[in-house]
Amino acid sequence: MRLINTITDRVTRSVNWLITSGCKQVYDEDANRKIIVINLFAMVGMSITFALGISAMIDNDRVLGIVLLSSSALFGLCKALLLHSKVLYNHVLAPFILVVSLAGLMLYLVITGGVANTGPLWIYVLPPVAMFFAGVVYGVITVAVFITLCSYILFAADGWFVVAHYTTEFKLRLLYSFATVTFLSAFYEHSRQTSFNIVKDLSDKFEKQAQQDILTRLPNRRGIQQFIEFESARARRQKKPLTLILCDIDRFKRVNDQYGHDGGDVVLKHVSDLFKASIREQDGVARWGGEEFLFVLPDTEESNAVVLAEKVRETLATSLVELQQEKVVITASFGVAQIDFEQGLDKALTLADKALYKAKEKGRNKVLSASSLARL
Ligand code: GH3
Ligand code: MG
Ligand code: MG
Repeated sequence: MRLINTITDRVTRSVNWLITSGCKQVYDEDANRKIIVINLFAMVGMSITFALGISAMIDNDRVLGIVLLSSSALFGLCKALLLHSKVLYNHVLAPFILVVSLAGLMLYLVITGGVANTGPLWIYVLPPVAMFFAGVVYGVITVAVFITLCSYILFAADGWFVVAHYTTEFKLRLLYSFATVTFLSAFYEHSRQTSFNIVKDLSDKFEKQAQQDILTRLPNRRGIQQFIEFESARARRQKKPLTLILCDIDRFKRVNDQYGHDGGDVVLKHVSDLFKASIREQDGVARWGGEEFLFVLPDTEESNAVVLAEKVRETLATSLVELQQEKVVITASFGVAQIDFEQGLDKALTLADKALYKAKEKGRNKVLSASSLARL
């Protein structure tokens, strides 16, 4: 039973690896979906043309055999390109080779007629494939070139170039129906891309909203999380310091009690604007909770963060907020802690919280650092 499970697991992982090779996190969802389809198309195309090629060789149709086996090799090349993620633009090169080799194979089938003049039936595969892989504009260009070549081969070059014999009615209807399929494929791909873009814009908008606090326009806890993770990884890699400042407005309940919830909101906005204006471009500040804020300071030692917190504390304490025609003094307390990467982010947050608690205990409107706590 365990053996069967292991085998099933390995097979699933291998199939997954084959289908998703070439997909990258940096590409958007649509690009990665296309890469999966290219993988599938290249593998199926490679297998079918290989089988048909061998069959043609056995039937002694050397030319058809060689063309089919060459197509199989080209499909294989697309697959190989996607497996080698180091090849630059492999996700552009692979579909290009795929579409061009498919168009070449289709032209060959039109010229020779394939098996019993059924070759032209395959050309309808080209428009949807070209539109999907190359997009509407390049897809239409590719198919237009193909139709031009086809028309030339079928009409102008007939007699000395086209091996297969088709009736004029067949040739005309083949081109009309092919043009119709092309138009429908282009329309379908355009609608698909438009719907995808609408959904993507909406999803980006909702994602942004979910990461932002509506009142203060600062990132919320969820919003700053990504920033902290990104900066932590960078600081660890570059062996640079990263410091957090946790801040809590003093006696905020009193503001709410005295000036109402709206008055409290005015204070929150005032504090947020002041915090935003006091940090450097590479720093981050978020609304961490009700009246709590978190500063994330890349490339900053704890001692320098204390200097910044002191400056912010003083600016806040001296800039009065107007509430119900009264000038009100608002103060806040700050806890500073540098991240020790051995101990992790949560430990630094706990230390900053402890320092903040101590700053409250010592009378509020104060800045305390985690290392000063250790000395207490
Ligand atoms: P301390 O100095 O010890 O921090 O005292 P405090 O009154 O600020 O502390 P406490 O955490 O007990 O109170 C925070 C208050 O903040 C309670 C809650 O009603 C208020 N609050 C939280 N979020 C909002 C908000 O979005 N708007 C307003 N107006 N008030 C809020
Ligand atoms: Mg408070
Ligand atoms: Mg609080």
